[in-house]
Amino acid sequence: MIGLGIESTAHTLGIGIVNEKGKVLANEKSNFTTEKGGIHPSKAAQHHVLMYQFVLDRALKTAKIKPKDIDIVAFAQGPGLGACLRVGAVAARSLASLLKVPLIGVNHCIAHIEIGKLTSGFKDPITLYVSGANTQILALASGRYRVFGETLDIGVGNFIDVIGRSMGMGFPAGPTIDKLAKKGKNYIELPYTIKGMDFAFSGIQTKINQLVQTGKHKTEDLCFSAQETVFAELTEATERAIAHINKNEILLTGGVAANSRLQEMLKIMSKERGVKFAVVPMALAGDNGAMIAWQGILEQKANYKMKDTAINQHWRTDDVDVTWL
Ligand code: AMP
Ligand code: MG
Repeated sequence: MIGLGIESTAHTLGIGIVNEKGKVLANEKSNFTTEKGGIHPSKAAQHHVLMYQFVLDRALKTAKIKPKDIDIVAFAQGPGLGACLRVGAVAARSLASLLKVPLIGVNHCIAHIEIGKLTSGFKDPITLYVSGANTQILALASGRYRVFGETLDIGVGNFIDVIGRSMGMGFPAGPTIDKLAKKGKNYIELPYTIKGMDFAFSGIQTKINQLVQTGKHKTEDLCFSAQETVFAELTEATERAIAHINKNEILLTGGVAANSRLQEMLKIMSKERGVKFAVVPMALAGDNGAMIAWQGILEQKANYKMKDTAINQHWRTDDVDVTWL
């Protein structure tokens, strides 16, 4: 079976092609980026429309397959930005009907988990899923990926992008902040907002924006302090989850999983706890089509039945029955 997956929940238009064994044959993408300011949903959607044919052709070429070789078409049905989700849904519906193959709508957050399980070989991890809009600590219990901790306001990637914007960076700011933080030497005291297993980032964001405006601090120190604070919160809550839930693997996935300091903190904690730790590979960390294709294959093999092809902007990870394991 060969699956084609379309990702368009936010900034990325991704088209991936994956076979039944989990081999990624193609993982092409085009990212909507800015020099200044964040993601404007309708501009991102327009980017996806303009880039669709180009990315599709490139994916087919890289995978060295013809459209008739595709057995299923999967798309990210939610959660995400409405305008962006609609582009992927329309493209997937027409492609599936043209090829006369099953259409599979998958949950984007779950695709981030399953691609991490595929690449790590982990069977039953506690997952720290960190991306632009989402930040959750998840583990499988009674047939669903249950949320053991999550952000009470914005996703950690969004936090990083917004503080980056206040320092004059474009979108995405994550990679730049990751680099600058390495040069930071002075820790600036910031609010540490963790409530049990949940965390909140908007207060820290406001504080950093105020500190930027004083002009008294080096950007490197602000980046360093921001990372140390929010990643310590994420590591603390993940450690608490592993202490309470009887599992022995920790998986880091999502766009912010690319961050070197977050990886380091989790690696140290996992070692101290005597549990295994894995990070999703860079190419599959941020939003991508390959993870959507793989999730489609998993669900098709479990006799998926499409009920409704409408997008679901607020589709929660713990609303999905895990039928494919
Ligand atoms: P996603 O929504 O899963 O594609 O993740 C996108 C988010 O990952 C954006 O908010 C980026 O700023 C963030 N990101 C990408 N690379 C890094 C990095 N090295 N460190 C921190 N955040 C990053
Ligand atoms: Mg994502």
